[in-house]
Amino acid sequence: MSDCCANNPPKATTQVCPQCKTNCKNVEMRTLYHQVKFPENQGIISNSHYFCPSKNCATAYFSIAGNNIPKQHLTTYRDIQNDKLCYCFNIDAADYLTAPSTNRAETIKHFVMLRTKSGECACEIRNPSGQCCLARFKQLDKM
Ligand SMILES: [Zn+2]
Repeated sequence: MSDCCANNPPKATTQVCPQCKTNCKNVEMRTLYHQVKFPENQGIISNSHYFCPSKNCATAYFSIAGNNIPKQHLTTYRDIQNDKLCYCFNIDAADYLTAPSTNRAETIKHFVMLRTKSGECACEIRNPSGQCCLARFKQLDKM
């Protein structure tokens, strides 16, 4: 499976979420600026930030300097609660998992793979993790 973010390899830094102790990957500042709502986006401090992917954790982004941005301040807050699978093309995990037949699920996945390959995804700004949405498809397929 191709990775849309391959031409921009994410720095593999991780930090443990101060609230829930989940391992969190770092995100680019541009992800934060697109994810955090107004007026909270006005107060973001440029620093290395990490995204907590845990749905039940109130923390969205945190920095080593101690900044903490709650998930409720994100434009994608509802999507996170609804297990959004692909933020670029608005696909919920439920849509994928309950697709009427395996073929339908395959179609959805191939659509996302194709669009991603063509550079038509926008994971870096639409996905709160800043990570490629296809990674989540891979995780679900393993379940
Ligand atoms: Zn957390």
